[in-house]
Amino acid sequence: MAAFKTHPHDVLVIGAGGAGLRAAIEAKTAGADVGLVCKSLLGKAHTVMAEGGVAAALGHVAPADSWQVHFRDTMVGGKLVNNPTMARLHATEAPDRVRELEEWGAIFDRTPDGRILQRPFGGHTYPRLAHVGDRTGLEMIRTLQDRAVALGVQVYMECTITRLVTGTEGVRGAFGYWRTTGQPIAFAAKATVLATGGIGRAYEVTSNSWEYSGDGQSLAYEAGAELIDMEFVQFHPTGMVWPPGVRGLLVTEAVRGEGGILRNAKGERFMWKYLPDERRTEYAETDEEAARWVTALSKGRETDARRPPELSTRDNVARAIYTEVKEGRGSPHGGVFLDISYLPAEHVKRKLPSMYEQFKELADVDITRGPMEVGPTTHYMMGGIRVDGVSGATTVPGLYAAGEVAAGLHGANRLGGNSLSDLLVFGARTGAAAALHASTQDEPPYLDPVQLEGASAALAAPLERAEGEDVYAIQRDLQETMGRLVGIFRVEADLDEAIRELAELRKRWQAVRATGGRAYNPGWNLVFELGNLLTVSEAIARSARQRTESRGAHSRLDHPGTDDAKWSGYNSAVARAADGSMTVRPTPVPAMSDELRGLLGSVH
Ligand SMILES: Cc1cc2nc3c(=O)[nH]c(=O)nc-3n(C[C@H](O)[C@H](O)[C@H](O)COP(=O)(O)OP(=O)(O)OC[C@H]3O[C@@H](n4cnc5c(N)ncnc54)[C@H](O)[C@@H]3O)c2cc1C
Repeated sequence: MAAFKTHPHDVLVIGAGGAGLRAAIEAKTAGADVGLVCKSLLGKAHTVMAEGGVAAALGHVAPADSWQVHFRDTMVGGKLVNNPTMARLHATEAPDRVRELEEWGAIFDRTPDGRILQRPFGGHTYPRLAHVGDRTGLEMIRTLQDRAVALGVQVYMECTITRLVTGTEGVRGAFGYWRTTGQPIAFAAKATVLATGGIGRAYEVTSNSWEYSGDGQSLAYEAGAELIDMEFVQFHPTGMVWPPGVRGLLVTEAVRGEGGILRNAKGERFMWKYLPDERRTEYAETDEEAARWVTALSKGRETDARRPPELSTRDNVARAIYTEVKEGRGSPHGGVFLDISYLPAEHVKRKLPSMYEQFKELADVDITRGPMEVGPTTHYMMGGIRVDGVSGATTVPGLYAAGEVAAGLHGANRLGGNSLSDLLVFGARTGAAAALHASTQDEPPYLDPVQLEGASAALAAPLERAEGEDVYAIQRDLQETMGRLVGIFRVEADLDEAIRELAELRKRWQAVRATGGRAYNPGWNLVFELGNLLTVSEAIARSARQRTESRGAHSRLDHPGTDDAKWSGYNSAVARAADGSMTVRPTPVPAMSDELRGLLGSVH
C-alpha cells in the first residue's frame, strides 16, 4: 500500500460550494477544528455558476411576501412530497442568512431606496430572488470563501474523496487522493459533512460541470446511508441548443423572470396552452396583461397584473418545450425561441450581462436584437441523501449532508433560487450539528487499516490492468442510456431496459483500464466518478420505475396522472442490501403539523 498521511479534524467537510463553505464557517465558529476538501480549486465549485439569485421572503419589492407564502410556494412546487420541516425552516431562516451574507460583504443589486433588490422567478408568488445581475453565485462564493479562510478553516484543494471510512459506531473519516500527484490521503474526523453537489454528468446534455458526478450520494450509499426521491431529476427548460459544443449550457431563468417570451417556429406563444388548470388564475389572461407585468417590473413598480405564462414551474415549461419540438414546431436546431429583445438593449445588458456575453461569444447571437434558441437540459437533483430536517444528520451516525447532495426540501421539483437559500440555511444548520456531535467525542477516531488498504488497492487497480476498456467509452454509453431511457418522459419498459443496460455497464466498468501515470490524469480520475454515476443512475432508474404516477419532474407516459391516493404520502427510499444489491421501497413523507397544513389551504 502506498504510504500516506492521515489528517485529523473535529469536522471534515467534503465539498467547498455554498453548502460546504457555510457548514465549515458554522462549525469553525462553534469552536471545531475544520478541514474542507474539494476536488477542484477553491472558488470553482458549482455554486459559482449560479446566476439568477437566492430566494428569501425579504419583502423588499413585494411587501406582502412572507415566510408563509414562501413555504407554500416551495411545497406546491415540490408537489407536496417535500419534508415540511425543511420547507418551514428554509422559508423562515433564508432572510436572515441573506442579510448575514450582506453583513459579510456581499453586494447585491439594489432597490431605488437602497435595499436588496428581488426579482421574480417561476413558481414564486412574489419577486423574491436577491441577486447580483446574473452572477449571484460568484458573489456568494466570494463572500463565503473569504470568511471561511479568514476564520482559519484548513482547505485541501484538488483532493478527491473516494471512500468514507466506517466503524461500528458510524463514519470515522474519509480516504482520497490528490489530483495533482495521485498520492493517497486520509482524514480522521469526529463528524463528516458531505456537500458534494449533484449528478448532472449522468446525462449528456447538462448545465452541470465535470464535478457533478454523484460522488457524495454514492459515498453515503456505500457507507450505509439511505437515498430518497432519486426519480426527481430536474430538466431545466432553457439550455443552449446551438452550437453543439455548448449544448446544455444554462440560459438562466432570469431571462424569463425579466420578461423573456417563449415562441415556437410558428411564432406562437405556446406556454398559454400548457398552464395547469388548477394554477391558471395565478397567471396573466392575455399578452397585454403579461406585458403590463413586465413593464411594472422593469420600472420597479407594484402592479395588479399577474405574471406571464413563461413563469410556470420548470417541470411544466420543460415538458412544454419538449412537446413543441417533438410535434414539429421546434426551431432550426431542435429547440424553441426565447425572446427578450423587445426590451431596451441597455436594460437587457444591465440585468443579464452574462447571458448577453454568453450568446454573443458562443453562438454569435445578440440577444438585444433577436431571440435565443433554447431547449431542456439536465440541471438539478431534487433527490439525494436522506437527512434529518433539522440537523442534516444522515441515517449513519457521524455523517451529515447539506446542499444539492441532500434531499427533502424540494420534493418533486425545485423552484429557481431555492437552492442557494437551501445551501445557506442547511449549510449553517448542518455545520452546527456536526460541530456539536464532534464535541461529544474525545479522541480523533481510529481508521480501520483494512478499509484503507482496500481503498488504496481500488485506486491503483485501473492503472495496473494490462487490458481493459476505455473509461470514456463507458461514460458515453451511460449518458446515452440515461438520455434515451430515463429522460424527461419515462415508461416502464424503458426503465426495465435501463436497469439491464446499467448492470452491463457496471460489468464493463469493473474491468476498466486507465493509461498513463497518477499525476493530473483525467481518464484515471473519471474511473471513480463513473462508478459513482453508475450507482446514482441505477438509483434514478429504480426509483422512477417504482413511482407509477407522474409528479413534478417525474413524468411517466404510462401513468400520466398524479395518483395522490397511492403516492402523495410517499418518498422513494434507496438502500444497499447486505448482498450488495440495491433496494428501493416507498417510505412515508415526514408528517406535517396542522399549522403548516393550514398554510397550504386548498392546495392539492
Ligand atoms: C449554471 C447554473 C446556474 C444556477 N443558478 C442558480 C440560481 O440562480 N439560483 C439557485 O438557487 N440555484 C442555481 N443553480 C443551482 C445551484 O447553483 C446548485 O444547486 C448549488 O450551487 C449546489 O451547491 P452545493 O454547495 O451543494 O454544491 P457545489 O457548489 O457544486 O459544490 C460541490 C463541491 O463538492 C466538491 N466535490 C464533489 N465531489 C467531491 C469529492 N469526491 N471529493 C472532494 N470534493 C468533491 C466539488 O469540488 C465542490 O467543491 C444553478 C446551477 C447551475 C449549474
